[in-house]
Amino acid sequence: MIVCKFGGTSVASATQIKKVADIVKSDPNRKIVVVSAPGKRTGDDVKVTDLLIDLADATLKDVAVDEKIEAVVARYRAIAEGLGLDEAICEVIKADLYERVKVDQTNTELFIDNIKASGEDNNAKLIAAYFSSIGMKARYESPLNSLVVNDLPERTYALPEAYDNLAKLADTDEIIVYPGFFGYTKDGTLRTFDRGGSDITGSIIAAAVRADMYENFTDVDCVFSANPKVVNCPVEIKEITYREMRELSYAGFSVFHDEALMPVFKVGVPVNIKNTNNPTAPGTRIVSKRASSGRPVTGISADNGFSILYVSKYLMNREVGFGRKLLHILEDEHISYEHTPSGLDDISVIMRSDQLTDDMEARILRRVKEELHADDVAFRHGFSMIVIVGEGMRHNTGLAARAAAAISKTGANIEMINQGSSEVSLVFGVMQMYENQILKALYDEFFTNVPV
Ligand code: ASP
Repeated sequence: MIVCKFGGTSVASATQIKKVADIVKSDPNRKIVVVSAPGKRTGDDVKVTDLLIDLADATLKDVAVDEKIEAVVARYRAIAEGLGLDEAICEVIKADLYERVKVDQTNTELFIDNIKASGEDNNAKLIAAYFSSIGMKARYESPLNSLVVNDLPERTYALPEAYDNLAKLADTDEIIVYPGFFGYTKDGTLRTFDRGGSDITGSIIAAAVRADMYENFTDVDCVFSANPKVVNCPVEIKEITYREMRELSYAGFSVFHDEALMPVFKVGVPVNIKNTNNPTAPGTRIVSKRASSGRPVTGISADNGFSILYVSKYLMNREVGFGRKLLHILEDEHISYEHTPSGLDDISVIMRSDQLTDDMEARILRRVKEELHADDVAFRHGFSMIVIVGEGMRHNTGLAARAAAAISKTGANIEMINQGSSEVSLVFGVMQMYENQILKALYDEFFTNVPV
C-alpha cells in the first residue's frame, strides 16, 4: 500500500490534476491520495489557501465577501471545466463557502481554520468526482470522526485514537481521496495544522495504515543539498535519513514540512519525495538508515528571521535556577525558543522574531532586570541560522574548524555555534546579511571539488 500526497502546485489546475490521475492509475498500490488546496499555477499566482485567509479576514472585518467568494469559486470552476466536470460541483462549493462565513466568530482562530480548510476539503471532493468520472473506483473521505486532533490552546496534533481510526482505511478496495491540512477535535470542531500541513496529514495516514511507502509529490525532482536559488546546481540527494531531513526542513528546506516526519519515523515508513511533473525520476528517499554517500555533510540550509535575547550576570553559573526563571519569563509570553548557548556569566536565547512584539520585548527586558537582577539584558534582531547536516559528521574530525574557516572568509562574525549531542548537525548563528555568501562558501568547502 502506498499513501501519496499531492501538494498545491500538483493540484493547481486541470492539467496538473490529470497528471495526478495518471500517476495514481499507474500503480495499483496507490490506494490513498491526500490532496492540498489548489496552489500557484504560475510564480505570481495566489494560492487558494491565501484567498481563503483573505476571505476569513474580510468576514471578520464585516467587509462584503461576495467578490472574495467568487475569486475562490473561479479557481475551482476553471479546474472543473478543464476536467469536464459538471458546473453543479462549483455551486456546491459556493454554497459551502457561504455556509462557512456564517459560522460563529467568537473564536477567530477556529473561524479562520474552518474557512482555510475548505481549500483542501472541496478540492478532495472535486478530485474524487473527477477520478470517478474517468472510471477510477474512488471516493472522498472526510477527516470528521477519523483524524481526531487536540483542543486549543496547544498547536494542532493528532491524538492517538486518530491512528486507530485511520488504520481502518487500509482495507479499502477503492481509491480514497483525503483532504490534507485539518482534523476535528473530539467535539467536532475543525482545526488546521500549520501552513503546509497536508504533508502532516499524509504522514499520519501513512503511519496509521503502516504503508509500505509515503510518496510526497511536489514540483521538484528531488531534495537538493543546498538551496538551488543560491547555490549553482547543488548535488541532488538520493537518500537521506529522517534525522537529517528533520534538521534540514527545520531551517529552510521547504520541500517537506518538518512536523510531517515524526509519524512515519516512529513506525519506519519510508518517504519518497517525487515530482508530479516528472514522476519517473527516482526522487529523494527518506529512510531510517542509509549507506554512506562518501561525504560527511548531506546538506546545508539557512533560515532567517531570528532574534537573540542576550542576558549577562556576574556569577550566573553559581545561581541555581537562573536558566529556568529566564525561560519561565518567555513561557509567560508564549514564546518558544530554538537554542540557548551560554557562557559562565551570560546566556543567549535564540527565538523566531515573528513571535515578538514591541510590548512583549519591553516586558521581558523589564522582568529580566527586575526579577533576575541581570547586569545587562538586550534584544538583538536580524539573525540567520545556518545548519550543516550529515550523519557522517559524527565520524569526522575538524568539520567545525573547516566550517568556521569558510565562514570567516566572508567577513561574517559567528555569533553562536551549537552542536546537538546527536552530532548530526552544526548550527551557526550569523547576521542575516551574510546568509547567502556563507551558504555558497560552505557549499564550496563541503561539496565543490570534494572527491566522493
Ligand atoms: N493549503 C495549505 C497551505 O497552503 C496546506 C498545504 O498545502 O499543505 O499551507
